[in-house]
Amino acid sequence: MSGGVRASHVWFDGKLVPYDDAQVHVSAFTLHYGLGAFEGVRAYRRDDGSTVLFRLGDHIERLFESAKIAAFEIPIERAEIEAGCREVVKANGLQEGYVRPLAFTGAGMLGMGARGNPVHVVVIAFPWDSVLGAEASRKGIRAHVSSYTRGPMNGAMSKAKIVGQYATSVIVKRDSQRLGYDEAIMLDGEGRVAEGSAENVFVVWKGQLYTPPLDLPILAGITRASVMTLARQAGIDVVERSFSRDMLYTADEVFLTGTATEVTPVREIDGRVVGKGEPGPITRRLQDAFFNSIRSAQSPHPAWLTAV
Ligand code: PMP
Repeated sequence: MSGGVRASHVWFDGKLVPYDDAQVHVSAFTLHYGLGAFEGVRAYRRDDGSTVLFRLGDHIERLFESAKIAAFEIPIERAEIEAGCREVVKANGLQEGYVRPLAFTGAGMLGMGARGNPVHVVVIAFPWDSVLGAEASRKGIRAHVSSYTRGPMNGAMSKAKIVGQYATSVIVKRDSQRLGYDEAIMLDGEGRVAEGSAENVFVVWKGQLYTPPLDLPILAGITRASVMTLARQAGIDVVERSFSRDMLYTADEVFLTGTATEVTPVREIDGRVVGKGEPGPITRRLQDAFFNSIRSAQSPHPAWLTAV
């Protein structure tokens, strides 16, 4: 599923503007070369009825890191962008939804060596339930191993959410839809399991929970880090270790984590049934722990939540 982005307001360079006024010129540098950075943040409604943004500070920090890796500067302070995320959720009357901060380079010059074009920051916010759907979250999805690889380390800046790099993720996702799957898992050039089109990967294999380490060409997912913290707090040991695709095929459980997909079980990979073909007990526990940390008054991590 994709998100319909129409809303009443967009935050644009520090101000809320009506949706239809949030326009850019066809000469915008990012439109041509993909040099921009973005984030995805979720707004959740808690059990007490309040709305919070999940790990907003960490997402905005990663936005600045992505821009730094992409060698451009964001001219607006972090705190102001964080405030913008809160304001646009409120202005659009959202209790829950998806928030997309984007820093992009506008019009002026073109050419690889062009410098000095203005950098803009926008935040859009719109309703977007778990991207693979509620049923995916309950029953698990069907995935395949993509024929596209992640990396190489020096070919793509995997620790950054740089706009242009996501063309690969879109191609990978479209291919998996064309082949009749819900999602793709990519390997690195050496055949190690890397990540999904926009998710990190976890497996339970012979009773042990594993996830690929950050020295592989993968994004340092904020949901990944949250799930690792919650697992350890629940007494479930997590080992960051590389593994090959055959471990996916023989795993007891596989799940994906990401802001858009949250914690999504995988029930089948390349035609092999994962475990019993339904979400396993560790996946379930971690799904519950994840949503509990956001929605419940007893959240063990109130610092992850920013009130809107
Ligand atoms: N990998 C990639 C390539 C992604 O785009 C995302 C989504 N941001 C993730 C992993 C998951 O990261 P997060 O949990 O921070 O959303």
